[in-house]
Amino acid sequence: MAKRDFYEILGVAKNASDDDIRKAYRKLAMKYHPDRNPDSKEAEDKFKEAKEAYEVLSDEEKRAAYDRFGHAGVDPNAAGAGMGGAGGFADAFGDIFGEIFGAGRRGGGPQVYRGADLKYNLEISLEQAANGFDTEIRIPSWESCETCHGSGAKPGTSPRTCHTCGGSGAVRMQQGFFSVQQTCPTCHGSGKEITDPCADCDGVGRIRKNKTLQVKIPAGIDDGMRIRSSGNGEPGLNGGPPGDLFVEIRIKPHGIFQRDGEDLHCELTIPFTKAALGGTLEVPTLSGRGEITIPEGTQTGKTFRLRGKGIKGVRSSYPGDLYCHIAVETPVRLNDEQKALLRQFEASLSNGGDRHSPKSESWTDKVKNFFS
Ligand SMILES: [Zn+2]
Ligand SMILES: [Zn+2]
Repeated sequence: MAKRDFYEILGVAKNASDDDIRKAYRKLAMKYHPDRNPDSKEAEDKFKEAKEAYEVLSDEEKRAAYDRFGHAGVDPNAAGAGMGGAGGFADAFGDIFGEIFGAGRRGGGPQVYRGADLKYNLEISLEQAANGFDTEIRIPSWESCETCHGSGAKPGTSPRTCHTCGGSGAVRMQQGFFSVQQTCPTCHGSGKEITDPCADCDGVGRIRKNKTLQVKIPAGIDDGMRIRSSGNGEPGLNGGPPGDLFVEIRIKPHGIFQRDGEDLHCELTIPFTKAALGGTLEVPTLSGRGEITIPEGTQTGKTFRLRGKGIKGVRSSYPGDLYCHIAVETPVRLNDEQKALLRQFEASLSNGGDRHSPKSESWTDKVKNFFS
């Protein structure tokens, strides 16, 4: 099952106060505490999940890091409309409290379970992430078994009423003073027992196939973001609703640009003559060629910013910037004539003292002080 967003787990908004987070955690911890849910693997998992989320979100430093690098959920519909809004929150809430649709808990009838969520890793290029695109992915899907028509029982036989729970799907256990209702261990809540399983589906009643799904990748999507495709996860049990499919985005490294949120960075290598004399320089941008003017005496490490030449984030109105970091290159494989020219040049520099080398000047001072 895909790892869920910590805010979703606790059912709080991204900007929730420390107090809200503490209250939400306390509520979940009480609900899923192992002492209250003995022998329930599901409750135990929920308890651990909530604890992990709380440990991160209650720590200022960890929370900041999670906000920056964590797997932010992106709803493709919400992205088109602007903001996630209340729908996203309701979905998250449904995930937490809606795992068991308690027909069984209302007494009588089988217990139905929501299917597990699925995760799909999709690797895309930086250009695709910046511009958005439509793609198709192959995902698993399940069809009702033709041999047994979905019953799971061998043709000619039919499932029997479960002998443990009498068809209710649940059994009552005595826990101290309390009588606790649990999913029937024999039929796993279906209320039915299959004595002769269908050979084609091993008694499951469905067969795994593959299907093609159209996915719309919104422009500006970043590494680690997830797109939810409702209902395309694993099917539910005993007629429960299916889980969701999460497409998690991985952005391939780019030959020129490094991405930092909405900003882009690139290194521009220039010959030392150009760095000394200044001039115009062609720079690559995601939208084609750009140009910058560098002043005389540009040093390695100098950064030039091209406003708006970064990436427009999924929920931003304006694109980020492109930062070009200058690296001055020392010429190599010089011939005798070029070397002679450089020696002549070197001699003319030394006539001017240190004023041609601003960094060496301060560095020489530091070394002098260090030795004195
Ligand atoms: Zn079958
Ligand atoms: Zn049963």
